[in-house]
Amino acid sequence: MQAIAEVSVILQRQINIMIQTDIIIIGAGPVGLFTVFEAGLLKLRCHLIDSLPQPGGQCSEIYPKKPIYDIPGFPSILAGELIDNLMEQAAPFKPGFTLGEAALSIDKDEEGQFIVTTVKGTQHRAPIVMIAGGLGVFEPRKPPIDNITDFEDKGVEYIIRNPEMYQDKVCVIAGGGDSALDWSIYLAERKIAKRVVLVHRSSSFRGHLDSVQRVIDMAEAGEIDLVTEAEVTGLAGNNALEEVIVTHQKEGEKRIAADHFIPLFGLKPSLGPIADWGLEIEKSAIKVNTLDYSTNIPGIYAIGDVNTYENKLKLILCGFHEGTLAVQSAFARIHPEKKNVLKMHQSNSYNVCLCLVWYSG
Ligand SMILES: Cc1cc2nc3c(=O)[nH]c(=O)nc-3n(C[C@H](O)[C@H](O)[C@H](O)COP(=O)(O)OP(=O)(O)OC[C@H]3O[C@@H](n4cnc5c(N)ncnc54)[C@H](O)[C@@H]3O)c2cc1C
Repeated sequence: MQAIAEVSVILQRQINIMIQTDIIIIGAGPVGLFTVFEAGLLKLRCHLIDSLPQPGGQCSEIYPKKPIYDIPGFPSILAGELIDNLMEQAAPFKPGFTLGEAALSIDKDEEGQFIVTTVKGTQHRAPIVMIAGGLGVFEPRKPPIDNITDFEDKGVEYIIRNPEMYQDKVCVIAGGGDSALDWSIYLAERKIAKRVVLVHRSSSFRGHLDSVQRVIDMAEAGEIDLVTEAEVTGLAGNNALEEVIVTHQKEGEKRIAADHFIPLFGLKPSLGPIADWGLEIEKSAIKVNTLDYSTNIPGIYAIGDVNTYENKLKLILCGFHEGTLAVQSAFARIHPEKKNVLKMHQSNSYNVCLCLVWYSG
């Protein structure tokens, strides 16, 4: 699938013309990719722009080998596999790709079409823009440990790209969210790491209840060392990490011999150029109308992690829903003369089927 994307990028550079499409999607993460499929069902063509050299957003860049447990129909799927599947699902609708180029500006031409220009000057023109820019520029949150940078790539990693590198190693993971919980479970359950120590400053976790329960059960079974109400406050070692210093709120300081320290405190959102496009921004995210995920600029939508609204959840599943509703609204803007109606057909008292019906008015 990536090969198709690469060919498309090369062809587009050689031709060097304005790329015309129905929907420009800024961000080829999972949400942008699924939106191609939903748009395709309505016969709308999409072109995706991403600053990264490959599609997949956070799934490809940060955790390609981490299993995801909350995609409907997949009890467990690796993030990288999910992206391969989304590329395959989008392929019949022949999306275009501009990869390795950040979208820098959005302007409007005299016909009311949007022109999106990248840092390399590639121009794209469409009546609709969907921003699926996720967290924008990825920057991990680092714990305040004085000498932490001395051990980066010498035992300290903020992202787990390849779990195999932890084979038979002692890993101290810090954090209380899904990443810390899921990776602790993964490395311990599959017996990859020799020992997994999970350090969290509180006694309650922010992750999925099921993951929290699994960690507690594994700690009781001696498969994970769980250290709560404690923080990693120091690191020691000569050429590489050798010891992690953990300070417990009541019991004081403890030194743990370790090969790796993996603080998983999430990523700092930084919108980058998106912040300068005249969109209404709140808490580093784009405010949207939950009716159709439109922004304050008519014709521009924001879907996935990049948007914000009351009760927003930054989950892939929620982004899929947002993209689906946004393309319905985009269809109505592009084809005001056509009615695109989701109709409910009651076939019997138990079975209800949804049927997409188009009316040309
Ligand atoms: C470690 C970890 C584990 C997770 N586990 C789960 C999980 O189990 N289940 C779950 O549902 N969610 C999980 N998430 C969250 C999930 O990854 C996000 O909700 C999802 O990636 C959001 O998808 P997206 O397409 O909106 O954005 P992203 O995946 O962030 O993709 C956005 C893309 O936009 C690009 N971009 C940004 N600005 C520009 C620009 N100006 N020009 C061009 N491109 C731009 C970026 O390069 C990026 O590729 C996890 C996240 C992390 C970090």
